[in-house]
Amino acid sequence: MDIIPLPAFRDNYIWLLRTGHDAAVVDPGDAEVVENHLAEQGLALRAVLLTHHHADHVGGVGELLGRHRVPVFGPAGESIAGVDHPVKEGDEVALPGFPLRFTVLDVPGHTAGHVAYRAPGLIFPGDTLFSAGCGRLLGGTAAQLFASLERLAALPEDTALYCAHEYTLANLAFAHAAEPHNPARDEYAAACAARRAHGLPTLPSTIGLERRVNPFLRVREPGVIDAVARHSGQTPAGPEACFAALRRWKDTF
Ligand SMILES: [Zn+2]
Repeated sequence: MDIIPLPAFRDNYIWLLRTGHDAAVVDPGDAEVVENHLAEQGLALRAVLLTHHHADHVGGVGELLGRHRVPVFGPAGESIAGVDHPVKEGDEVALPGFPLRFTVLDVPGHTAGHVAYRAPGLIFPGDTLFSAGCGRLLGGTAAQLFASLERLAALPEDTALYCAHEYTLANLAFAHAAEPHNPARDEYAAACAARRAHGLPTLPSTIGLERRVNPFLRVREPGVIDAVARHSGQTPAGPEACFAALRRWKDTF
């Protein structure tokens, strides 16, 4: 099975799963981008997976359903037109024709009903976790997002992370402020800058890499705690408070 990024809008990726001539897409915000790829490659769309209700993730569903009769999996806790298979924590998703099964994780925080789709060795976290960053709070709470990120960070370190946006370079600029001394992060930033200069995606990342470079997964590190304390004028009371302060800081960075 191949997993292909289809760039959409300014910085979204619609991830397309392909096995033989069968395809499935995750968060098709733009139907035309998907249709063009299906036509170019001679693929048949078999399923749609949705992580949350934002328009840049679900905007293409109506148009795709007009041309393809396929199941649409989406979060049970959010109201999204076209979803005929609402899913929640622990549910299993088998895609017609695909050799893998997804397990659904509830990962609220960016939105209140956000879900992620995990299969052995990979996960689609939507807008919950980005490379070197995380989603904004647009419906959920900092406590929810912190708990969701803790769950993702605990996945096996070689888990490939198919994030929904190419935000990595901007996130790395903030990561530098949030943790000034992190040589592994500096090395990663140089590699990402080179990839972007060649028009290549920085994704997928991995959970292990994010644990080393992503300040939002490093809220127990003294360097992050110190930076947050300097910025906010107050030493955070614990990891969750450090995360919340970091998230507020990034909102205005
Ligand atoms: Zn979103």
